[in-house]
Amino acid sequence: MNLVRAHQPISRADLARRMGMRRGAVSLIVNDLLESKLIFEGATGQTLRGRKPTFLYIDSRRRTVVAADVRASETFVMVADLVGKPLSGVTSFPTSTDPQQLISDLANRVKSLLAEREDADVCEGVGVVVPGMVEHSTMKVLHAPTLGWRDVNLRDPLSAALGLPVQIENSGRACALAQVWAMRGDAAPPAGDIVFISVSDGVGVGVIIHGEVLRGGHNIAGEFGHVPLALDGPRCSCGANGCWEAYVSNRATLARYFGPMRPQQSQFSIEDLIARARAGDAKAIAAIEATARYLGLGLASVVNALDPARVYIGGEITLAWDLIEFPLRSALAERALTAAAADTDIRRVAASEHPRLQGAAALIAAPSFAAPVVA
Ligand SMILES: [Zn+2]
Repeated sequence: MNLVRAHQPISRADLARRMGMRRGAVSLIVNDLLESKLIFEGATGQTLRGRKPTFLYIDSRRRTVVAADVRASETFVMVADLVGKPLSGVTSFPTSTDPQQLISDLANRVKSLLAEREDADVCEGVGVVVPGMVEHSTMKVLHAPTLGWRDVNLRDPLSAALGLPVQIENSGRACALAQVWAMRGDAAPPAGDIVFISVSDGVGVGVIIHGEVLRGGHNIAGEFGHVPLALDGPRCSCGANGCWEAYVSNRATLARYFGPMRPQQSQFSIEDLIARARAGDAKAIAAIEATARYLGLGLASVVNALDPARVYIGGEITLAWDLIEFPLRSALAERALTAAAADTDIRRVAASEHPRLQGAAALIAAPSFAAPVVA
């Protein structure tokens, strides 16, 4: 199924070639998948001679997933198909820091999104990414600093409210999983380890080592957002001072621009700040460039610690990639331990791709394909 997903439309013969198996053996497997309606047969292909192959597709038409991205400020929700393609626009609502209220708000939003759809009955489940550390087996949110949560069970009450399976994962990890799982062709991750850095109200980091997500003994592995850049730096949501997150999150960038005068409930977003920078506001440019430098300095710690083959950076700040790439690269080069490490492959993931929602969708969709990194 992963081969069909990655190469669809694909013929049985091509599938057999890629699997290194005889066509007859592959046909038996294909027939099982057709019978289970996991794949379907589409248009007939064209060959110069011989029998015309029938192409196989993943049957994503009648199976949907709901993806939710819980951030400290807002929660975003969309409906996607089984390969992560958006089927709805992205809607959002303010995130309540009270878990019961958030569960009720989220359940209501999911219900109304599904009520608008004729295929609501084929929703396979809800994937939720959260800005915090998640215990893998129970999916309990162990600690979400920007929300002030410890040991919060979102999954069971949300699942009960919706009557659907619910999966919870750390946002950075889900983003990393989605990259490994969903990308193909030129966008496919290279052989080797990858790191995903998701910059939003906080900073989420996902690490894939040898094709598996790194969780650690206590589910906090990869929390580079809370590794200090300076011991006496700005206060972080986790209560410590000088964490990487306290320098590079969207909140930190906005605080740098506004200074202590920033109103508490400001609607001014990072996109607004980027727009001001584009209009020539020197203070806005300086705030974004400072974030880029701190991003690069923290990235040097990630590179020196893990030496990944590729680093993905996602988040609204990447809309200003032309402003941030140079200072980020320069700061990385300053601290990276070798020239080759300074030259680490860095890819931005466009905000329009909604990497965190893609990650949330993959929590439900990827296990259907028995993706090894999710199992
Ligand atoms: Zn911290």
